[in-house]
Amino acid sequence: MLGARAVAPIVPSNCLGWNNCRSDRYLLIGYVDLSRFESGVPDAFRGSETNARYADHARLARVGITTGECTSRGIDRLGASHILCEGGFMSTEDLSTEDLPTENLPSQNVAARIIDGRAIADAALADLSVRTRQFRDETGHVPCLAAVIVGADPASKAYVQMKAKRSVAVAMTSRTVELPVSTTTEELVDVLRALSADPSIDGILLQHPVPGHIDERVAFDAISADKDVDGVTSAAFAAMALTGGGFESCTPSGILRLLDATGVELSGKHAVVVGRSPILGLPMGMLLLRRGATVTYCHSRTVDLAAHVASADVAIAAVGVPELIKGAWIKPGAVVIDAGYNEGNVGDVEYAAALPHAGAITPVPGGVGPMTVAVLLEQTLAAAVRAAEVRACSENHDSRVGPDPAIASDRL
Ligand code: NAP
Repeated sequence: MLGARAVAPIVPSNCLGWNNCRSDRYLLIGYVDLSRFESGVPDAFRGSETNARYADHARLARVGITTGECTSRGIDRLGASHILCEGGFMSTEDLSTEDLPTENLPSQNVAARIIDGRAIADAALADLSVRTRQFRDETGHVPCLAAVIVGADPASKAYVQMKAKRSVAVAMTSRTVELPVSTTTEELVDVLRALSADPSIDGILLQHPVPGHIDERVAFDAISADKDVDGVTSAAFAAMALTGGGFESCTPSGILRLLDATGVELSGKHAVVVGRSPILGLPMGMLLLRRGATVTYCHSRTVDLAAHVASADVAIAAVGVPELIKGAWIKPGAVVIDAGYNEGNVGDVEYAAALPHAGAITPVPGGVGPMTVAVLLEQTLAAAVRAAEVRACSENHDSRVGPDPAIASDRL
């Protein structure tokens, strides 16, 4: 059952634009008591949504007004503080928010804030660019990210190209290693070990997913820990889960940054992570746990996914199934993070339908994706700084003590 909330009764005097009504569809503005419906939201409410409406939902949600829709058959069964008929509302493009009623809204107002991942990531990248140039000027070293891609999956290629482009934008360089789909685990491991040993490379990214015949875990663990800027090795996972301090898995780390930027207090909240992949869902839950959230993992075997999601204060979708998470499942006011990216710019959450329910939500695209890249590049600079410190330290040591006699004698 969905969450209960205060409701102002429908009264005819609250009905705006009623006389303009052209059809039997109505937009309800205000708070709809979904708890009345023990078996979920009635079809009359659900069935009337159209794409054209979604923009209106989003616009109203931004000013703190929750909306829902119904047909005339359902209107008397749903509580709402105010009602707009379709004709009156749809024809009023520039409807001022001042015209909208506010005094009947309950105090626990819900505003679906769109979490602008692109803006948050751009700010992080601008700062990173300054720091990278400074590092370059001081050390003469240009940080370099190597991306390894196995096979010719167009989406993976596009991701890698985009990451390379962003590296250049923040004054780094990048190297892309493209391997044929027939590459074996051993061959891939050799490539990753060679990159790990190459001093001109600071960070290594193995683009996920790799073809099914490759042992991805073995390949990830061939990346040296000091260049694992994507946080995919077993050692990075352990550090992240237990102590912190290592390179974090980029997408979960980026999601945490988005939550922080949104001002969400995670301690004591119920976070539901849908997906348990080693690069995304699993580390996501660990990071949330470390922040004091109570974490539930859902996956392909989970029974009654809807009930789990409906109980989430923070819902993280990390699945790869278009619009698996239905808008009507979202607990009113919940923070919704959609990490999914599916063909046609579609996320794992039914975005438009979630807008009237969510307190804050990431769009797809423009939510999690840009922040993932920002974290990846930040960690590449951190790896370069660490490597430069180690180099400087060993050079200082060598100049103080002179050549190691054992090595010197070897050279003779
Ligand atoms: P993955 O390795 O395929 O894992 C998918 C997870 O979803 C698995 O844990 C799976 O459960 C679970 N799942 C599948 N079907 C389900 C269902 N019907 N109900 C509940 N759970 C279900 O995928 P991934 O690499 O984690 O990526 C997930 C999504 O995130 C994809 O869309 C990907 O493109 C996107 N992604 C985005 C970014 C970014 O930067 N924005 C980064 C990485 C990934 P089982 O474990 O039981 O199989």
